[in-house]
Amino acid sequence: MKKWLMGLAMLVVAVFLTACNEEEGGTTKEKGDQLQVVTTYSIIYDIVKNVGGDLVDVHSLAPIGSDPHQYDPLPQDVALTTDADVVFYNGLNLEEGNGWFQKLIETAGKSEEDGQVFKISEGVKAMHLNSEEHKGEEDPHAWLDARNGIIYTENVRDALKKVDPDNAKIYEENAQAYIEELEALHEEIQEQVNQIPKEKRVLVTSEGAFKYFSDAYDFKAAYIWEINSHSEGTPEQLKSIIEIVNDDQVPALFLETSVDPRSMEMVERETGVPIAGKIFTDSLGKPGEDGDTYIKMLKWNADMIVSGLAE
Ligand SMILES: [Zn+2]
Repeated sequence: MKKWLMGLAMLVVAVFLTACNEEEGGTTKEKGDQLQVVTTYSIIYDIVKNVGGDLVDVHSLAPIGSDPHQYDPLPQDVALTTDADVVFYNGLNLEEGNGWFQKLIETAGKSEEDGQVFKISEGVKAMHLNSEEHKGEEDPHAWLDARNGIIYTENVRDALKKVDPDNAKIYEENAQAYIEELEALHEEIQEQVNQIPKEKRVLVTSEGAFKYFSDAYDFKAAYIWEINSHSEGTPEQLKSIIEIVNDDQVPALFLETSVDPRSMEMVERETGVPIAGKIFTDSLGKPGEDGDTYIKMLKWNADMIVSGLAE
């Protein structure tokens, strides 16, 4: 090949590569331009992704499948929280197990007063724990009622607008579309659970995470231990749940993906009542697997509960 022709060919390749790069940069924002967001667990992570879209780069502290009540932040979590523009937490006594979240934001030099840390459950009507040990403490699992997911979404929208007012319109539009999906989902779940006769609506799980759900969709919630921050499955707790399962002639048990399965397996063995399947409470499913978004996990739970109790 003649020298000038070779030069021309290289120039064409170079121009082509540059064009490709620009195209890529045009459709997705550069990491440096995105709002850096940290959330305490995967359910808030998903809500923020829905409201923020390409404008946010989100990191969930407690990883998928793990328990956000008690978590030990890694050095990477501390670094990301320190650099974050916005930090979202659930509140309502969720991230309290070992005081991990309070310690983390202190270490990261963040506070609610500085306008960077937001409680996503603000405005939710709190329900409270009943057991003697926790009487009067707030129950964190508000997100299992889809209507509270709408309040969470509104809080995320307002926080992102405050921190990044230039993109307020995008956050509003994204939030609106997502809220409409959640409204439809709430109605769908309500219709679905109507297939379960009233006397069979007893929901037995390891942790008492279904107070808000049971209130919204008219169930009785029964559990081995009340909250994961002190998860146990003591002999007394097991005895008590076995009695409920027998007395109420409960047809199925449910096992959460983010708890130790051994206690519920023991209830299954002792009562002969089967574990109908897994259910999502404090974490999404892994990407690409069942329940890998907030909406999908609520749908999954409703399907699982109906198939376990209605048949
Ligand atoms: Zn929990």
